[in-house]
This record gives sequence, structure tokens and C-alpha cells, in this order.
Amino acid sequence: MRLLVLSAKGGGGQERMRRLAKKTGKPWSGVLLTWYDVNRRDLPWRAKAGKPADPYGVWLSEIMLQQTTVAAVAGYYRKFIARWPTVEALAAAGLDEVLGAWAGLGYYARARNLHACAKKVAAAGGTFPMTVEGLMALPGIGAYTAGAIAAIAFSARESAMDANAERVIARLYAIEEPLPAAKKRLRDLCRAMVPADRPGDFAQSLMDLGATVCTPRPDCARCPLAKWCEGRRLGMAMRLPVKAAKKARPLRRGAAFVATDKAGRVLLEKRPEKGLLGGMLQPPLGPWGENFPSADEAPAQAPFRAKWKKLPGIVRHTFTHFELEIEVYAVCPVSHPPSPSAKAGPSAAGESYWVSQDALPGAALPTVMRKILKHGAALKNTI
Ligand code: SF4
Repeated sequence: MRLLVLSAKGGGGQERMRRLAKKTGKPWSGVLLTWYDVNRRDLPWRAKAGKPADPYGVWLSEIMLQQTTVAAVAGYYRKFIARWPTVEALAAAGLDEVLGAWAGLGYYARARNLHACAKKVAAAGGTFPMTVEGLMALPGIGAYTAGAIAAIAFSARESAMDANAERVIARLYAIEEPLPAAKKRLRDLCRAMVPADRPGDFAQSLMDLGATVCTPRPDCARCPLAKWCEGRRLGMAMRLPVKAAKKARPLRRGAAFVATDKAGRVLLEKRPEKGLLGGMLQPPLGPWGENFPSADEAPAQAPFRAKWKKLPGIVRHTFTHFELEIEVYAVCPVSHPPSPSAKAGPSAAGESYWVSQDALPGAALPTVMRKILKHGAALKNTI
């Protein structure tokens, strides 16, 4: 059998693959589906074999899985489904509740969009659109997510390219063009092979193959697609997909102020609704810049006057576009904690609250803020 190699310069990928499928008489998609029937992963959002998928569960899982692993998402997915079993129930929840339940999953704009999307769908009768175009008109749903939902929930003949599927396709066709520029080409190549009868299973089979066999260190001996795989034949599978060099992330530094009263309550404040970690909670923070505040500068950034003690060590956290280093100042206990409305001195924007230890695990605290609280000894065993 002759295989076609599609290089970065090659075009007409879909047509070539259609021709290839016709020529061989046994396109790899059928073989992959047979493999999937035996080897499919059991995931909490996945319908049992032969059963229809629940669009709400598919949508919820796909939003959670954006830039997050299956292992990290599973617990959150179960928690959300138990608490809000329908899109109407999620729409009726308060945004703070949703942000609190999402805390720790990262990329918090997703949670805000999730809630906004649930409201739109609920207002439209609780039914998700079935087309990619209709889905993309909803908050937080981009091309990949729309393709995945349309294929898995509505059996639309669409490709669904998560990072696992991209890796498989890049290797199968020996695509050397770096990601993310190659995304469209990979999607087109995949779409050409989507079968008419089981597009949802096909999408999930590619994801599963990438997650369990065609991993960063591929196990080609176990792969059902080995005889179609150009990356393997050319001995280049391990270095595919090629990824464009990442820019170095800038470093920002600042100070956090962890105040704990005698009852163990912690002073938290709400971040502005828009922007990074919008609407989430945090201990009071100073501004972030090139350097940490000096011993003279730090007290002026604190939420109230007190004998703030700088703790040894630094809290580090990586955001998508920058690295953050935080020095932590603590006051513990505060003998007469000021009420939020009676704070002395400058404070960050937003309201403040004294939050009990019992309420901290469910509070809308992103991971970086939990790290800071833990460093400040204000948070026990909740990371
Ligand atoms: Fe991936 Fe190897 Fe299978 Fe090719 S043969 S798709 S590199 S596991």
C-alpha cells in the first residue's frame, strides 16, 4: 500500500485522505472505532456504549477540559453534576457559588463563561444548539469545543481536536508544521476521516488513543493505526507534533497580607469582576511589579496598621503569560480585627470579609491564593 506524506507545504489534505481511504478500501477510522469498542476509557461524563450522550454533561466536561487534564477534571465534574444536575439548575446558581465550586481548576474566565452560557441556554428552553455555528455563538465555546460537543452530543460529522487528537493526527500524517499554526491543517485532515455513522465515538477514540497509546512516548507496538502511520515509518513520531518555541514569561513580584483573628477567621477580599481571576477571593495584596516592596513600602500596602511580620520563603505561581513571586506578611492573631467597613489605611479594590476556617474549602479561592494562605499558616489542609 502506498501512503501519502503530507508536509507542511502540502495542501488539499482532506481530498488526499479521501482518495487514500477510497484506495485502501479500509480507512483507519473503522479500525480505530473497533479498537475503541474494546479499549474506551470509562469517564464520568461519557455515555455508556450505545447510549445517547447528555449534551449538558458533554458541554460541562468540554469546558472543564479546556487546558486541564482528565485527572484534574473528574472530581470537579462529579461535584458540579451532583450539585447542579441540569443546565437550568446551574443557571439558577449564583456566580459566587459557581466560582467557589470551580476554585482550583484554574482559568477562571471559563467559570464565568460557563455560568453565562448556562443562563443563555436555560433562557432558550434548556436545549443546546446542535450545530457548530450555534454552539460558537454561546459564551466560552470556541471552534474546538463546538466541534467536540456537536460530534459527541449530537452526532454531527465534525472533528474534535484536543491535544491528544492533535498529537495522533500530526504523527499519522507526519505533519512537521509547528503548532499552533498547524491546528487548522490537522483539523482538516481529521475531518476528512470522520465517519458518517459514529462521529462522536470517532472523536473520543482519537482522544483515547492519544491519551493511552500515542502518548508523548508512543507505544507503537500496541497501536491499531501503526500500519497507516507516516510518523512511525519515517522514525519521527517522538518529535511530533512540533511546537513553536514559547516566549519567556515575564516575572512579577509583590506582597500578600495574611491576617488571622483569634477565632481563626481570615481576612479576604474580592477581586474586581473583570480581568485576571475576576470575581475570585484573595488575601489583601499589594501591586505586582519588577521588585518586591521594600521594608518601608510594604506596610503602606497592608490593609490595616499592625505589626506585620514578613515570613521566610516565597510563594511562586505560573500564570499563562507571566510568573508570579509573592512575599507573605502575616498578623496572627489580630486582637481587635477591624471590620471591613472600618479598615484603616489603604486597601485593594473590592469588599473584604472575615472568613471562617469552615468556609475556606468552599470559598472562591484560586490555587495561587490558597498557596499564599497556606504559606501564611491561615489555611489548613485545603489545597
Ligand atoms: Fe502514534 Fe505510534 Fe500509533 Fe503512529 S503508530 S499513531 S506514532 S502510537
